[in-house]
Amino acid sequence: MSHVFPRHCHSDLPTAVGGDGCYLIDADGKRYFDGSGGAAVSCLGHSNSRVRDAIKAQVDQLAFAHTGFFTSDPAEKLADLLIANAPSNLDRVYFVSGGSEAVESAIKLARQYFVERGEPQRKHLIARRQSYHGNTIGALSAGGNALRRQQFAPLLLEISHIAPCYEYAERPADETLHDYGQRVANELETEIQRLGPENVMAFIAEPVVGATLGAVPAVPGYFKRVREICDQHGVLLILDEVMCGMGRTGHLFACQADGIAPDILCVAKGLGAGYQPIGAMLASKSVYATIADGTGFFQHGHTYIGHPVAAAAGLAVVSELLERDLIPQVQARGDYLQSALQTCFAQKQYVGDIRGVGLFRGIEFVADRATKHPFDPALGLAGKIKKAAFAEGLICYPMPGTRDGCNGDHVLLAPPFIASEAELDEMVGRLSRAVDTVI
Ligand code: PLP
Repeated sequence: MSHVFPRHCHSDLPTAVGGDGCYLIDADGKRYFDGSGGAAVSCLGHSNSRVRDAIKAQVDQLAFAHTGFFTSDPAEKLADLLIANAPSNLDRVYFVSGGSEAVESAIKLARQYFVERGEPQRKHLIARRQSYHGNTIGALSAGGNALRRQQFAPLLLEISHIAPCYEYAERPADETLHDYGQRVANELETEIQRLGPENVMAFIAEPVVGATLGAVPAVPGYFKRVREICDQHGVLLILDEVMCGMGRTGHLFACQADGIAPDILCVAKGLGAGYQPIGAMLASKSVYATIADGTGFFQHGHTYIGHPVAAAAGLAVVSELLERDLIPQVQARGDYLQSALQTCFAQKQYVGDIRGVGLFRGIEFVADRATKHPFDPALGLAGKIKKAAFAEGLICYPMPGTRDGCNGDHVLLAPPFIASEAELDEMVGRLSRAVDTVI
């Protein structure tokens, strides 16, 4: 009997024993196409020799040195590489072990920034509904996924949630994309006014909403307006690119497509590409300077920040992305994937929307295409699709619709950047066969 405390107590999981490019292999030799990179993690696939060699070399040289005493070469080099390729206001990288830690760090940095500026009344964080920022208490409080929050509600921080930018479901037919984007962005202005601008600390959002909505980018102009509003009120903009960052959208950082720069940027998943647990919070020059010129100490920290082996893996991953020109390839393969999905799914009565950017795509299933009405959540479609796809040898990331009926079941696809067109076709074929057995 297993002594592992699994995600689902009554699951009977196969044992993964190997990885080969876009495939995972179980103990019976069955090969699974990793169509979602787990959860948008495995951007380089599963057997990248450069990353494996970098990890081995770093372990042989130095496995761990606590950052209270030392810095390390891989952490310094990875920070330099990230900053050299990030929006120009970002200047410092705070390494952590994953996405929730990155978001948690960002929330605390925003708070300390205002305390050090002599504005301790600034404590309100504004986030969006139907978002996900992680599972630790601060990050879960920021997230707007009703199901994930439900039973922990009494423990959560008080955070305002405004509308997401979710054009498919929420834009009336007679409103232009531009007007819709400005209108929902202006909800931020309204909420800041309600709370009193002098009390608001930060706004946090995913540039492309991942786990909760399934690859939903904002409409053009939305984030520019958000940036303007934040600037006008001295509110920090935190962008959570834990899922959509590190090349997945066809830009190293998703916000680069919107032409805006946040004050704090969170990344994880694709940074370690699954080879090591690593995340990072990038801070602007002025946010960092406020701490450096004030108390000089960020009142935060974890044992494994800046772990040399994780940083060596991250350095090899980002070097691979940049030196092999994988990011422009993500744009091209993403376009290919979108048209393959359209060809296969667009005519199906139960498909409401096929969307996304780069190799970050989502399909939303609806009971009625005209009204966009979701299927009854009691049907448990997402879980059934996940199971059927797994039987077909496909790992994808289906999510149930929200209970409030705001959005339907969807499936998220985030294949490795190395996937060939033929492999993407194979993925779409397996997904189509799986969905056909369920709906
Ligand atoms: N933020 C976003 C946007 C995410 O998608 C996730 C995970 O899916 C997280 C934060 C939390 O990351 P982690 O699971 O590494 O803690």
